[in-house]
Amino acid sequence: MKDLRKCNLNRNRTITSWQRKCGAKLSSVILNGEWHWRPARSDALVEIQARLPEIRFAPYDKPVWTASRKGIFVSSETWELLREKKEEIAWWKLVWFSYAIPKHAFILWLAIQDRLVTGERLLKWGFQGDIKCLFCHNQVESRGHLFFECSFSYRIWKFCMARCGVDNVPVIWDEFLHKGIQERMNKSLKGFLCRLVLGSVIYNLWCTRNELMHSGQPNTEEQLLKKIIWEVRSRIAGKGKFPRTRENLDLASLWNLHADLLL
Ligand SMILES: [Zn+2]
Repeated sequence: MKDLRKCNLNRNRTITSWQRKCGAKLSSVILNGEWHWRPARSDALVEIQARLPEIRFAPYDKPVWTASRKGIFVSSETWELLREKKEEIAWWKLVWFSYAIPKHAFILWLAIQDRLVTGERLLKWGFQGDIKCLFCHNQVESRGHLFFECSFSYRIWKFCMARCGVDNVPVIWDEFLHKGIQERMNKSLKGFLCRLVLGSVIYNLWCTRNELMHSGQPNTEEQLLKKIIWEVRSRIAGKGKFPRTRENLDLASLWNLHADLLL
């Protein structure tokens, strides 16, 4: 348990306090100018509490939130102190970036970690029913097949990535992700378009698959492509400014973007 609070007493004496109860407030330590401690649960705390009556509050005594540099509660600084820090993952900028569409980012985040409930995962949990891909009915519905290897999905990728100026689209999930990390996590117009397409395609393929499973009335391939193009175009239009390079002029033309987008 980290110490988040202390009381500065007579300017140069300090007592650090701690409480195990989640949601404990500063006011629970000092109340109406008096100490207000929970029952001691350690020898150190017993000793501290035994000596507290010797201390009288002065007008300049005040509680200080030590998790913050300014001594007042700041949620972001407290979160930084409490959270468990892990090694930075290489792909996070593919998912979380300034123009990302939140619902797309969430599904993509689950997909990258293979947490979407595909047929293959259901099989591992003992599911006895049909786990074939609902697009082609040929293969087991794994993440790799559903989003890339299936001929239906691959046609969607080919069409959308061609609009981003990418002709060579890998059909293997890990290879796609690796190429994405290498080439598309920058702030160029192409970088944003590729990442928006990535989120939109994964999200819309997943929704289409769910509609097939539950209602049987999904978007057609043409409707799906129109929706993805509309989502990406709407998101990038009117956002930042990009240099008027040959590549950006071509991309603006392919996506029918307004000329104001380029400087
Ligand atoms: Zn398939």
